[in-house]
Amino acid sequence: MSKIKIAELFYSIQGEGRYMGVPSVFLRTFGCNFRCAGFGMPRGELSTDADDVAGVNAMYPFKTYQDLPLVSTGCDSYASWHPDFKHLSPMLETDAVAERIIEILPHGEWRNEHLVITGGEPLLGWQRAYPDLLNHPKMENLTEITFETNGTQKLTPEFKNYLQDWNKVGREITFSVSAKLPCSGESWEEAIVPEVVCEYEQVGTAYLKFVIATEQDFADAECAIAAYRSAGFGGHIYLMPVGGVESVYALNNKNVALLAMKHGLRYSDRLQVPLFKNEWGT
Ligand code: SF4
Repeated sequence: MSKIKIAELFYSIQGEGRYMGVPSVFLRTFGCNFRCAGFGMPRGELSTDADDVAGVNAMYPFKTYQDLPLVSTGCDSYASWHPDFKHLSPMLETDAVAERIIEILPHGEWRNEHLVITGGEPLLGWQRAYPDLLNHPKMENLTEITFETNGTQKLTPEFKNYLQDWNKVGREITFSVSAKLPCSGESWEEAIVPEVVCEYEQVGTAYLKFVIATEQDFADAECAIAAYRSAGFGGHIYLMPVGGVESVYALNNKNVALLAMKHGLRYSDRLQVPLFKNEWGT
């Protein structure tokens, strides 16, 4: 039986991208290859918010996710990868994960809900455990999955084959690729990997979602879009405002929507921010 280190498992409404508004189970895995400490910071500077919370945790250990503060800069899901918070993410057998999912579904079974496998970066080593989870009898009626990924992790040949088979029987797989621009603080070479995202299109529907705060971010997005297109990427492109907290989101959302309109691109909101204040478990 495989195990997955689960940072969060909750039921909510998908707030972003193609499935915005769809009732969804979110399975947030632990671990990420990035830190994205540049979000919300002046260009070239990195947030210390996650490390500051870790400093508090060293003195007064947090016992649950709900106790953790939200941060206004850097990665808004820092507890899903920061090593100082790994005690909050239990390693669970896939059986236990499937049981827990059924418990949180409103009718105790899959109906029209969608599964979001997110992170952290969900396509790290956990790829080997997902088939066990998806083969569980209680997951039989699930028909739609989205992987929310940063688009840097190749699919293993085994998992790619598995997903291609899973997809054949009228089911739908989506890769929501939040490719990290320089405003994230990550390097272009490591973050913009078009061949990886093109491979996702061999398995399901893939789209790109760029987090935008400034005109410079949009200029970077245009360069990235050109790189993905020249590698053969054919999916949709979304622009999404920066802002894991309402004060930051509200400064950006309308401008980013106008920018998307001006350039004929799609706008993705972050419904979880105005609806639920982006609290843990939403
Ligand atoms: S890739 Fe996503 S989860 Fe990982 S650090 Fe960046 S924003 Fe956070």
